[in-house]
Amino acid sequence: SGKWARTVAILKELEGTCGTPIGKLKQIADAMTVEMYAGLASEGGSKLKMIISFVDNLPTGDEKGLFYALDLGGTNFRVLRVLLGGKEGRVVKQESKEVSIPHDLMIGTSQELFDFIATELAEFVATEGEGLHVSSGKQRELGFTFSFPVKQTSITSGNLIKWTKGFSIEDAVEKDVVGELTKAMERMGLDMRVSALVNDTIGTLAGGRYHNQDVIAAVILGTGTNAAYVERANAIPKWQGLLPKSGEMVINMEWGNFRSSHLPLTEYDQALDVESKNPGEQIFEKVISGMYLGEIVRRVLYRMAEEAAFFGDTVPPKLNIPYILRTPDMSAMHHDTSSDLKVVGNKLKDILEITNTSLKMRKVIVEVCDIVATRGARLSAAGIVGILKKLGRDTVRDGETQKSVIALDGGLYEHYKKFSGCMESTLKELLGEDVAENIIVEHSNDGSGIGASLLAASHSQYL
Ligand code: ADP
Ligand code: MG
Repeated sequence: SGKWARTVAILKELEGTCGTPIGKLKQIADAMTVEMYAGLASEGGSKLKMIISFVDNLPTGDEKGLFYALDLGGTNFRVLRVLLGGKEGRVVKQESKEVSIPHDLMIGTSQELFDFIATELAEFVATEGEGLHVSSGKQRELGFTFSFPVKQTSITSGNLIKWTKGFSIEDAVEKDVVGELTKAMERMGLDMRVSALVNDTIGTLAGGRYHNQDVIAAVILGTGTNAAYVERANAIPKWQGLLPKSGEMVINMEWGNFRSSHLPLTEYDQALDVESKNPGEQIFEKVISGMYLGEIVRRVLYRMAEEAAFFGDTVPPKLNIPYILRTPDMSAMHHDTSSDLKVVGNKLKDILEITNTSLKMRKVIVEVCDIVATRGARLSAAGIVGILKKLGRDTVRDGETQKSVIALDGGLYEHYKKFSGCMESTLKELLGEDVAENIIVEHSNDGSGIGASLLAASHSQYL
């Protein structure tokens, strides 16, 4: 019928505008490299902030002692206690607690948010058990993973540039987040010092390097997306300070804010952006990361319902609710291997209250998931190639066998197998077989936690 033809037309159009042929991906990788140079050259020189992290040494394995870490940057935050045992002992013991952040705190005041965090942290500290104490007379030390853009002023201070990922707490913007946390800890009577302020990419880089000395970059694919890598200190023209002894500096790219005329953007992306809390910002993030993929799919299905009566004569009311279709549900539908696409049918029923979907319809929905996820995965691969190009690691020099390891973390990467699989195969496709042999993608489990505690250790006041 005409309606079905209309559905197919919408699907084909989506496939076309989301297309990421290899030539386009190479242009995007090149654009990423160009923006990296621009962001390193001058403050505000690029959409990529290329933030100097003040981390000029990554973990060596010698780190020792009991350290805390706090990870804030998405829907949950976590507190950890890690006992580090040096080269022999490695991570002797770790304990952690995860707490979800009540939605009203994500859009309330700075004091409310940090008081909540400090309260949870104090409760966790109170559960220190046998053998997991700091030596008497010593202050507890914390690695604070804060995964929003911060203008770092030292390893222990930095001002919030803007919120992302659905957070919106006006009075915290431009404030020193370590100062805010420290004041809250004082209000709670908790005696603890923040000895390293990092974000999840840097924590992941540190955690990755602790396990594998060939790690040179880290990428997060979770609620949001970002990357960090090790740069030569003398390749950072905007750096005003003394060159670090190591000659290296970790750069937090804030690549979620990347954009380029080469990016394949659709009407759905444009509408999502306009209606978001941060219009015009984080465009790369909005086509790649877990916060948005399900929402893009919802918007496509909504148009099919409205213009092609895809779900019958009326638009199912639930389909009109922003963010109702979450990326984990999209992923579950995309991975449905049953012959009648049972999972797709159940998700539609449970989430959108749409019943009686035919197999033909379910196949269309899986196809939409595939198009949206494939675009995101291939664009993340292009981003990684951009970093490798900047480091001159995208080609093989004669007989070179130097490995480059990229540490990856985040719920999207970890759980959405079709996404991570596509990202890894696209990386090979972009690099070619010979180069790809020396480029390794490694899942760095819980870098933002362990990594932050390692950086707290290497920046301890007692060293
Ligand atoms: P954060 O990025 O908030 O620190 P995570 O790294 O744990 O947290 O990532 C959580 C995000 O990962 C979720 O917001 C979701 O988008 C995505 N995610 C979690 N589970 C799945 C899944 N099964 N399939 C696809 N995406 C998932
Ligand atoms: Mg995280």
